[in-house]
Amino acid sequence: MDIEAFPPPDTAAATRTRLVPAMARGFLNRCSHCGEGKLFGRFLKVRPECEACGLSMEGHRADDLPPYLVIFLVGHIVGYLVLQVEMGYDVPLWLSLTVWPLLTLVLALGLLQPVKGAVIGLQYAFGMHGFGVAPPVLGAGERRGGEAGTRTGDAPGLGNA
Ligand SMILES: [Zn+2]
Repeated sequence: MDIEAFPPPDTAAATRTRLVPAMARGFLNRCSHCGEGKLFGRFLKVRPECEACGLSMEGHRADDLPPYLVIFLVGHIVGYLVLQVEMGYDVPLWLSLTVWPLLTLVLALGLLQPVKGAVIGLQYAFGMHGFGVAPPVLGAGERRGGEAGTRTGDAPGLGNA
């Protein structure tokens, strides 16, 4: 395995977006690194790489965490509302059987993509899984190709500094 692909952790951390902005960008369907490109291609399908900065997003491992978090959140929101409404008002059964499942479904589907985006932002910020490789440098005049040859070309410059 090429050692150039794994730079020292401090180099990678310096070019990364911090945790909260990275998670917020993911929550809003934006690339955690640059905030420009879109994170999702389809509903829950993550794009292979950012169209704006070239960050590879294929290695993310959100797995089951987003659904766990959504179940936790929706369960507490809907559970609280059911308890408050059913204890305080005389609601007809047909209304309860219509509103609560519908609200649960809408909240679950509405939160799943943003929560998954935030989880991917968290993995990016901590350099977990596929994000262990240093992200592309932002604001550089030329766009990096991300090829091994590009990094090898940079090495003598770092040595002279
Ligand atoms: Zn990006």
